[in-house]
Amino acid sequence: MKKWVGVTAAIAMAAGIALPAAPGEALAKEESHHEFSIKGFTDYAELTKKLQQVEKTSKGLVSVDVAGQSNQGRDIYTVRVGSGDKVVLIQSEIHGNEKTGTDAILNLLKTVSGGSPYAQQLREEITFVFMPMMNPDASEGDKRRNTMTWAEVVEDFPQLSGAQPSWNYLDDRVQQNYDYSKNPGFDVNRDFNPDLDYVPQPEDFPGSSSDPGWFITPESQTSRDVYKSLVEEFGKVDVFIDLHHQGVYYVEGTSDEVTLSLSAQFVPDPSSPEGAEYAQYADNYNYDFSRQLNVAAYDALQAKGNSIFNNITLYSQGLDLPGTALGSYALNGSGTVLFEVTGQTQSFGQKKRGQLVKAVETGLLGIVNAVADGSVHDLDPEEYKDIPLTSYRPAE
Ligand SMILES: [Zn+2]
Repeated sequence: MKKWVGVTAAIAMAAGIALPAAPGEALAKEESHHEFSIKGFTDYAELTKKLQQVEKTSKGLVSVDVAGQSNQGRDIYTVRVGSGDKVVLIQSEIHGNEKTGTDAILNLLKTVSGGSPYAQQLREEITFVFMPMMNPDASEGDKRRNTMTWAEVVEDFPQLSGAQPSWNYLDDRVQQNYDYSKNPGFDVNRDFNPDLDYVPQPEDFPGSSSDPGWFITPESQTSRDVYKSLVEEFGKVDVFIDLHHQGVYYVEGTSDEVTLSLSAQFVPDPSSPEGAEYAQYADNYNYDFSRQLNVAAYDALQAKGNSIFNNITLYSQGLDLPGTALGSYALNGSGTVLFEVTGQTQSFGQKKRGQLVKAVETGLLGIVNAVADGSVHDLDPEEYKDIPLTSYRPAE
């Protein structure tokens, strides 16, 4: 059966058409290239099964939809629950070697779709939209980038035939233990553009980290389409949260390993001189609200008492990354929160999985509760700067 799929895929690729996986038929999974097991995390097939189950048993409360397809033809799911007029969009695994967010989303989904009065209250206040695995080819490959060649991009956008491949494309080396010379791909989290209607232009390539992206990957296009359709339906996406992992770092001034880092800052403030190039977005951008959301997550984690949940820091500040989902959506008016959990799969595998998933879930619930009851607006945005900074080395 697998061989048949392979042959069909080859024909489809030669014809330049994306081939969706046949129903019930998994694409071959890549060989693991990492030292540590990741079996404890939810993979694509398990996610598909779990979402189908949740939808079925929820009696209409939860709807699971296919929002688009990855470059290799895997479905990209959205999960929607709740009917409130505040919209909270949470995305995970845009980088496929960063996996705790997917499990944290599944836990949160269970909480908010439950039968308790608390869950009911949350659903009355908030419309939740989850994208638990937005880059499934990367998830299945256990790697940062998607699976796509520059030639495929040019097939989709013939106007780019003379352009240089984008700077976030890798086809010539090993990175994070993955050999992209055998299987090239793009860092999808540099492919976003604050202009959600942007059409790729050859003069905008190869670009750089401080330039907007181009929506050349099917994965970023899918996230963008979900975002735009929510804006159309609700007027705005109030909150956007993106779930990631980082290296192993320390809480500044201590020798404590960071559990997770948070951030509200991805582009310079469009009303400031440094953010002048984003001035057209100044009326939408709401840094105070983003900081309040971060404080809500931080407070919920601190409330867990003296534990690893207290080792929370701010991610690097002063960034200018308009090609990230967070940067683009912040400029479009969403309150934004980045989660960066310690250790990607190449360094950790599934080590500490339970605790790290719990940490993400705790932070997410802190945000959700504060948005649902409106208390987020009473938080002091200036408390954001009291969150400790991240240090690359432990204090002596
Ligand atoms: Zn990441």
